[in-house]
Amino acid sequence: MARIVMKFGGTSMAGTERIRRVARIVQRQQAAGHEVAVVVSAMAGETDRLVNFCREANPLYDPAEYDVVVASGEQVTSGLLAMHLQALGCKARSWLGWQLPIHTDDAHSKARIEGIDSEAVLASMASGEIAVIPGFQGVSDKGRVTTLGRGGSDTSAVAVAAAVKADRCDIYTDVDGVYTTDPRIVAKARKLKNVTYEEMLELASVGSKVLQTRSVSLAMKEGVRVQVLSSFIDDDAPAADTIPGTMIVSDEELEGLDMERQLITGIAADKNEAKITLTRISDRPGAVAAIFGPLAAANINVDMIIQNIAKDKGETDVTFTVPLADLARAQALLEERKDTIGYYRMLANSKVAKISVVGVGMRSHAGVAATMFRALADRGINIQAITTSEIKVSVLIDEDETELAVRVLHTAYEMDGE
Ligand code: ADP
Ligand code: ASP
Ligand code: MG
Repeated sequence: MARIVMKFGGTSMAGTERIRRVARIVQRQQAAGHEVAVVVSAMAGETDRLVNFCREANPLYDPAEYDVVVASGEQVTSGLLAMHLQALGCKARSWLGWQLPIHTDDAHSKARIEGIDSEAVLASMASGEIAVIPGFQGVSDKGRVTTLGRGGSDTSAVAVAAAVKADRCDIYTDVDGVYTTDPRIVAKARKLKNVTYEEMLELASVGSKVLQTRSVSLAMKEGVRVQVLSSFIDDDAPAADTIPGTMIVSDEELEGLDMERQLITGIAADKNEAKITLTRISDRPGAVAAIFGPLAAANINVDMIIQNIAKDKGETDVTFTVPLADLARAQALLEERKDTIGYYRMLANSKVAKISVVGVGMRSHAGVAATMFRALADRGINIQAITTSEIKVSVLIDEDETELAVRVLHTAYEMDGE
């Protein structure tokens, strides 16, 4: 017997038929002799709909009230799943974030989990009851509802799994595992049996939204075993215990499993970045500090940065990227400081995409970046900026070339499946 936390995403919870299927999957897991707790997302599209209502109410809405509104999507699905489980003859009840409670800080709309009181879930599981917990939500120490940021139900599930010391956290979604790249973009993407925490963390942070980045770092920190698998399965599909999906494993574990490791594990694309160039900045100490200091103070995350070498007049151009959602704010801020920074013109481009290749194999192999640049050049794709880390190379390109670039790289690194 194992203790398993099962999480179901938005597409899996979208409507009566799908929730009924989810209830059967949960029932089957319990019938196999396991103690189970479930974490659910809102129905697909619901959170977007609720966010829009907030924007319509007031573009500068109060984040605390935003949380009250957007947390409601998960309240609905947790109650509905408990009903479906009861209809199948299971004992089940919902536990809202404030009821467990799931304690968070009070950074509304992007709160962090500080701790979960696990007694209720443990007692519930021990008595054969299925605890259904809405993902994405918690409660601050001021007693107000909070939410964890988009995609946050993954993090809720991992946090619950850590709190109840679960043997496994199964993340059920609309694809049957983690692929070498988004299978909706590249038909030849291959499913990975295993991926390391570190690689998954890097992939998630550069745009593979199959898992929320924070859920991966939490799983890594707490040592939670996470499997990604499909909820779109028939009753006779292989049981989750046979690990039909993708298992997130430690580096050491993978060494034992996979002798022939691939150089590149995955490719991700992110269209939510924008590029800013400030021209003719004087090439002197303190010049870049004058740009990035104020952006940091305004909580705007700068990702890629290039500073060209000074030309004849001791002037240089600086190019960098910011999240698309922060572009307008960044522009306004830099415009305000035009004289202090001392640039000539500000150019902005929101039609860019960041393409990243990730793999722990690149630690011990040279030439990964060179292959990337050659493959993109051969297709006439221009690179506007580059960044690297120990296990990742990212390039910034024209947004219109996103799909082409991902496909070309998938082939160049010999990752194509059938
Ligand atoms: P859920 O609602 O279940 O949380 P998400 O939409 O958040 O589901 O995540 C699943 C989606 O992630 C898939 O439908 C797929 O399009 C996308 N995705 C992006 N990159 C990958 C990848 N490398 N492997 C699998 N899915 C990916
Ligand atoms: N419903 C929330 C969202 O759409 C949380 C989640 O689904 O993980 O972002
Ligand atoms: Mg998700």
